[in-house]
Amino acid sequence: MSNKFRIKEIQAKSIIGTTKVPSADYVINPYTGCQFGCMYCFASFMGRFVGENNKDWGNYVYVKANAPELIKKDILRLMKKDPHPKIAISTVTDPYQGVEKKYKLTSSILETFAENNYQGRVSILTKSPMVLKDLTFLKKIPNAEVGITITTSDDKLSRFLEVRAPSASTRLKTLKTLNDSGIKTYVFVGPFLPHMKYKPELIDKLFSEIKAAGTDTVKLEFLNLPPYVKSRMKEVIAEESPEIQEMYKDSQSKNYREELEPIIKKYLKKYGLKMYYDEIVHHVGNQELIEN
Ligand code: SF4
Repeated sequence: MSNKFRIKEIQAKSIIGTTKVPSADYVINPYTGCQFGCMYCFASFMGRFVGENNKDWGNYVYVKANAPELIKKDILRLMKKDPHPKIAISTVTDPYQGVEKKYKLTSSILETFAENNYQGRVSILTKSPMVLKDLTFLKKIPNAEVGITITTSDDKLSRFLEVRAPSASTRLKTLKTLNDSGIKTYVFVGPFLPHMKYKPELIDKLFSEIKAAGTDTVKLEFLNLPPYVKSRMKEVIAEESPEIQEMYKDSQSKNYREELEPIIKKYLKKYGLKMYYDEIVHHVGNQELIEN
């Protein structure tokens, strides 16, 4: 295991995968691994497919260097279907992490959808303002949708678990720019950080800032701590006060979810926010939901 960040270029056999993600027919992940290395990242199980240790999440990215060629072929197959299938880009990595600056795989994939006048939904989820460099392509895709993950509006708090991701305030600004540019957006509030149950004013503030940025749809998810995430989180949480440690332990109970849900719904109502799914996602042990 090494803490030095590594980039490895690979030739992928295919770039489009089937999925059990409810909102998509196919997923595209141009990278395996994610430089942002969020401690709670559910996608870190991907390491096992490339022989990486779970603790090394955030320290490697496998770049599917032939993604631009693959998507040019695969899109022809997708466009034979009627209607055009729904695509989710980057369900297990961030499409606009640092390496995208050099490799531009996400850009090239979006460019291909734009050039082909693809009519199906093309949804992309990120924490990065780098998405704005692809506004031209996004505007040309009739059913493009951008999700920005924002778990808190507090930059200090965001640093706690999203150590290398762009700050919360940067994400809110990115969201506003996307909305001002006419792109359809949603915010992924996932995971809901456990202390929000005890400080509902933080939910109030987050939802109010999402609404102010011009977004009215949110995807919500409780904190999921399957063993491979728990083992990574343990070290961070161990340095916190017993009170915080207790909150994280409690966040896995049914009671916790049942008590938090009405609080969340109260603030959704206050700001007129709609839920993307009918429920707040809770999928411990069901990692198929995010991988093909
Ligand atoms: S940005 Fe997303 S994919 Fe990347 S580490 Fe964070 S949660 Fe995982």
